[in-house]
Amino acid sequence: MSGPILLPGAIGLNGSGQPTTLGVMGGGQLGRMFVQAAQSMGYFTVVLDPDVISPAGLVSHYHIQTDYLDEQGLTQLLQRCAAVTTEFENVPAPALVTLGAARPTAPSADAVAIAQDRIKEKAHLARSGVPVAPYAVIETAAQLAAVPDALLPGILKTARLGYDGKGQVRCRNRAELVSAWDTLKNVPCVLEQMLPLAAECSVIVARGWDGAMVHFAPQRNLHREGILAVTEAFEGNMSPVLADQAVAAARTIAEELNYVGVLCVEFFVLQEGSSECASLGGLVVNEMAPRPHNSGHYTLDACDVSQFELQVRTLAGLPLTQPRQHSAAVMLNLLGDLWVDGATPCWDQVLALPGVHLHLYGKLKASKGRKMGHLTVTAATPEQARSTALAAASVLGIAPF
Ligand code: ATP
Ligand code: MG
Repeated sequence: MSGPILLPGAIGLNGSGQPTTLGVMGGGQLGRMFVQAAQSMGYFTVVLDPDVISPAGLVSHYHIQTDYLDEQGLTQLLQRCAAVTTEFENVPAPALVTLGAARPTAPSADAVAIAQDRIKEKAHLARSGVPVAPYAVIETAAQLAAVPDALLPGILKTARLGYDGKGQVRCRNRAELVSAWDTLKNVPCVLEQMLPLAAECSVIVARGWDGAMVHFAPQRNLHREGILAVTEAFEGNMSPVLADQAVAAARTIAEELNYVGVLCVEFFVLQEGSSECASLGGLVVNEMAPRPHNSGHYTLDACDVSQFELQVRTLAGLPLTQPRQHSAAVMLNLLGDLWVDGATPCWDQVLALPGVHLHLYGKLKASKGRKMGHLTVTAATPEQARSTALAAASVLGIAPF
């Protein structure tokens, strides 16, 4: 279904008395920031999430608390909203099919179905002509036995439901691969060759119903234990040649999917001089996320239009303007590890630093590795942004980068 233009701020002129309301599947922090962006533009919002208390449900006008496939829940959502988006890729595709039949739904069920399954995702990336890490699909014992030696050492990843490094096991040899597949309960997997990484980066694009597309410059991302820890967004964070390649690849992937909404593509930058770099080129696509991404949170504070506002604009059929970054930025993820023994981190000391923007997601329980919030440091220069971010990290007990 194509998308009509859903102007915000309708005040019952059409006789229904209903304000223009946008819906989102999922109540996590990405949904929360979508809701906040939509509300600041005058939309009403409705969140569907099974949890009684969720980051997005807490701040939305309406919260429908049902399972994602619950028929009544989906019907209520459709009654409330004029268009629907999603905040995480694991929304069951059939729910998006139901929604998409009745309302403009972006991204589409088809695009989400590809992004939520690494096997389909890799096939799509290969079709799009972008380089991916050498890999093998493992769905049967025969496929496991037939894995070529060249893929080891490698990382075995479940085809579905992985995030933040969960559902992944590193394997140095065949024996470890066999036991890793057992550990992952023999579900469909992808084995990827372990690549020599020099860095990681991501590109976020937004594409409208009419095919118009805008993008943010690539962010450089540092992961720790499989979880994004730091994003550096400023000029000079990576080689301009690779940056151009990354943007071109992300745009191609979005075009090939006929994608509508915000899409993030994550990349590996390979070590120069490695044989993998010689055979694959300097840049390899890791994966894509059919939604705004953690590595784009800095856009809230450092750009004239954020990834969440672009999600609202794509969904509502509003014009997309090419984002302009007005400040150098460093984003630090705030994981539950910081709430050591239940103590609150020293936000007062952190907020005394210039250019610090604190975002907490309203989660009421901290646990190791749980994303509780993030902070973005903005500054006039990359050096200032980095040094203030290092000072904030030091106050909080986050390792330097
Ligand atoms: P998320 O969805 O949170 O981004 P994920 O669980 O889907 O993460 P991946 O992005 O596949 O996991 O991998 C997590 C991290 O593990 C990567 O960012 C990278 O640091 C490392 N990694 C993954 N695959 C490879 C590979 N083939 N070679 C080297 N390092 C890798
Ligand atoms: Mg990833």
